[in-house]
Amino acid sequence: MALSPEVESSIDRAVDDCADELLALARRIHENPELRFEEYKASEWIAEFLARRGHAVERGLAGMATALRARAGSGKGPRVAILAEYDALPGVGHACGHNLIAAGAVGAFVGAAAVADAQAGEVVLLGTPAEEGGGGKIEMIKAGTFEGIDAAIMFHPFDRDLLAHPALASVWLTFDFRGTPSHAALAPQAGHSALTACLDTFRLIDGQRVHFRDGVRVHGFVTGGGQAVNIVPEHAACEFSVRALDGRELERVRGIVERCARAAAIASDVAVEISTRQGYRDMVNNMTLARRFGGHLQALGRVARERDDRVGAGSTDMGDVSHVVPSIHPWLAIVEQGVALCHEHRFAEAAGTDAAGRTAVLAAKAMARTAIDVIADRSLRATVSAEWRDRAS
Ligand SMILES: [Zn+2]
Repeated sequence: MALSPEVESSIDRAVDDCADELLALARRIHENPELRFEEYKASEWIAEFLARRGHAVERGLAGMATALRARAGSGKGPRVAILAEYDALPGVGHACGHNLIAAGAVGAFVGAAAVADAQAGEVVLLGTPAEEGGGGKIEMIKAGTFEGIDAAIMFHPFDRDLLAHPALASVWLTFDFRGTPSHAALAPQAGHSALTACLDTFRLIDGQRVHFRDGVRVHGFVTGGGQAVNIVPEHAACEFSVRALDGRELERVRGIVERCARAAAIASDVAVEISTRQGYRDMVNNMTLARRFGGHLQALGRVARERDDRVGAGSTDMGDVSHVVPSIHPWLAIVEQGVALCHEHRFAEAAGTDAAGRTAVLAAKAMARTAIDVIADRSLRATVSAEWRDRAS
């Protein structure tokens, strides 16, 4: 059952009516980049935007001051969450385009809210802080924010249109090596170098790369390498990010990386302390939902591929959400393909343009239509949840 043309045009009209304000919101957040958990201005501006349209906004959720929630519709029946992000990156500002994610989500909520009352369901806007390394959505999952939600929807800017690009499961590992200092010229035989073990860890991991499955990423940097040139380094440390397409491969590769660090420590006869910080889970794209979003996007004039193996993947806390409720995280181009990717200066520039803002407005319409579709179409909901129950991981 498709949405009626009347419902679609009501959604589009509601989004178009606030399109200029959405562009202004995207620009304003772009001009005022705020780091994870410090998105005070962005969350304030989003709340003001919604309050001007008569929506009650809850501020501060799951112990995070910059999280927010608004609801529209009957309060009963199926419930769809539309997710906003608004944090920036150190040094490169809005190089991930989260200002556009915010504007798109707010627009989608306004569009869906315009027709939600007649649909016997509820649309929930969730403002989710700290996607860049803070895992705001994980805090919200723990706090029960996603309980009773039937589907979760967001969009992300990119250099091409993709409905179901993967996002990698990830973990951070820190290795602290402790050796024995000695005079590097006077008594080198008395020392055990923590730095040698640290550098050997990189070499050993490089040797293991031939055994990694496709999609695995292991990348690290040295965070401490000694104190002075004439002292055999007593202390050295490095940090690695390990990523894989699913949790099982992540655990396997994590084991290999840890083994390399221990082997390096043995070779230099130094001690190693390993600490782990859990990253994000892999993204389980709900293909039923992704294709429905793709259908709406196409009706609005943009054709997206499902995936594109020529481009790499990152990690997102939307992956964690996708293990809790059926979710989509489609990507929409704001630059010509190949011009720039997320976390680059040129991508940050593009995220501040009105052309990019107009893509967020388009995404808003497609997300709102998809959300109302889930609420209105019982058989779509059944297929979405059956696919989610059967997911591989
Ligand atoms: Zn991002």
